[in-house]
Amino acid sequence: MTPSRTLHWFRNDLRLDDNPALAEALRSDETVPVVVLDNRFWTEDRWGHVKTGPFRTRFLLESIADLKLAVEERGGALLILRGRPEDILPALMREHGCTRLTAQAEHTPEELDIQVAVERAVGAEGGQCMWIEGHTLYHPDDLPMDLEALPDIFTQFRNKVEKLSKVRECIPAPSRVNTPAGLTSDAVPDLADLLKSTGQNMPPADSRSVLPFRGGASEARARLKHYFWDTKKLAVYKKTRNGLVGADYSSKFSPWLAHGCLSPRRIASEVCRFEDAVEANESTYWLVFELIWRDYFRFVAMKYGTRLFHAKALKPDSPNRGTQRTAFEAWKEGRTRDAFVNANMRELARTGFMSNRGRQNVASYLVHDLGIDWRLGASWFEHMLLDYDPASNAGNWIYVAGVGNDPRPNRKFNTQRQAEMYDGDGKYQTLWSTDALELDVR
Ligand SMILES: Cc1cc2nc3c(=O)[nH]c(=O)nc-3n(C[C@H](O)[C@H](O)[C@H](O)COP(=O)(O)OP(=O)(O)OC[C@H]3O[C@@H](n4cnc5c(N)ncnc54)[C@H](O)[C@@H]3O)c2cc1C
Repeated sequence: MTPSRTLHWFRNDLRLDDNPALAEALRSDETVPVVVLDNRFWTEDRWGHVKTGPFRTRFLLESIADLKLAVEERGGALLILRGRPEDILPALMREHGCTRLTAQAEHTPEELDIQVAVERAVGAEGGQCMWIEGHTLYHPDDLPMDLEALPDIFTQFRNKVEKLSKVRECIPAPSRVNTPAGLTSDAVPDLADLLKSTGQNMPPADSRSVLPFRGGASEARARLKHYFWDTKKLAVYKKTRNGLVGADYSSKFSPWLAHGCLSPRRIASEVCRFEDAVEANESTYWLVFELIWRDYFRFVAMKYGTRLFHAKALKPDSPNRGTQRTAFEAWKEGRTRDAFVNANMRELARTGFMSNRGRQNVASYLVHDLGIDWRLGASWFEHMLLDYDPASNAGNWIYVAGVGNDPRPNRKFNTQRQAEMYDGDGKYQTLWSTDALELDVR
């Protein structure tokens, strides 16, 4: 009898642990695992930024390399191809005799368009696609309301899910990945080549970065071990989470979460273990609380679709904002009149990371002080951020811009007061003050 074969397309789920789509694929006799580097994610957006900048490109390649190693350690091989999934995947299914394709379900417009194109191309050849949820802490099917009835206020959502929904158990990593005999892994593309082909260069490493941020599930596990078990920083997270300097004021899980190197359910289950073994307090709860925010923005994206990405998003009566390019370029390069904003923008440009406190301030400054359309700022964040996630990015931007899920009418931050509160001794601003930025922005 010919073995049943499934093609598993790794998208933003670059892990073996707690990966529901991969677990479904592995129910077949054999699985063909593939990662596709889709050139569309390295093209320029309407504001002239290459969507995936150097920091995230590097993190992605490191994550793929780590995944490849993990698959090989379990007896399998990983294909790594570059092109359009809707061209590559049906051809691979034909070549390897796969009858179905599994992949993590995505919910934002660009990702959904690709999903639809893949479904069409695979369907045309008689194959079946299974889009399986794996991004969120709470499974969308377990929400205590229909998506249309998703509350527009976070607290109402959180109260309901905390009371009425349960987080599903984690799925352990497989001990074997059976790939067809003779299947061999592809090489991970060279970073410099990939960047060069997209007109970009890798900036030099900056020792001021809060972390070296290496991609991959092994690095994610190491970070979790460090933050929870070695240093027990989880126990003080709520007190330190608004910090600006250093590796441990917050978890820094976001780049690994965004690439799916780490599952939110695994984090929550480790929080439970920590609460049993060490202590349960406001801080341990608060980390899960933040993961619920992450879920919420994903569900908001599912509810509102493309509307989330419009200038006025959920508030059609809000004022028009402009695209003042000179002021925008100054914001990007950390050359505004506001030293606190500048420090944060420099950190972002030099490292691909910025704290949550920083993000709120620079976003507010762009929209409310400079009067610029939030989508320009979100586009720059997309280019720069290691942890870019379409739903979290747009959701947070529209929230701060006052066109999203916020009951309060005005989200303007007083950035000077914020600097006094969170950087009273000026340590952060000093750290990022000496910087002649020469950005190679495309
Ligand atoms: C304008 C703006 C844009 C943002 N863009 C992104 C983005 O593209 N990708 C992204 O992951 N986060 C984004 N955030 C949210 C937040 O700033 C980062 O998740 C957080 O700073 C990451 O650091 P951490 O992992 O140490 O977070 P922690 O404080 O340790 O939190 C733990 C995890 O909870 C989640 N989380 C925390 N705060 C938020 C939040 N406000 N919204 C959604 N999830 C949250 C993240 O997954 C994070 O890793 C944005 C915030 C703002 C204000």
